[in-house]
Amino acid sequence: MTWLDLWGNTFEAISVARQPDCPNCGEHHFTFLEGAGQARPSRVGPRHVQVTK
Ligand SMILES: [Zn+2]
Repeated sequence: MTWLDLWGNTFEAISVARQPDCPNCGEHHFTFLEGAGQARPSRVGPRHVQVTK
């Protein structure tokens, strides 16, 4: 996973364990990248936005 700080112009790679039952990292179905569903940004703090599907 990549953590992006757009205001600070920094990024960091974070290790995340794969989960066999996860549609993305376990089963390799990337429907989000293929255009199914839309990303929804939501404000989670004064300088933080979380993007979820
Ligand atoms: Zn996953």
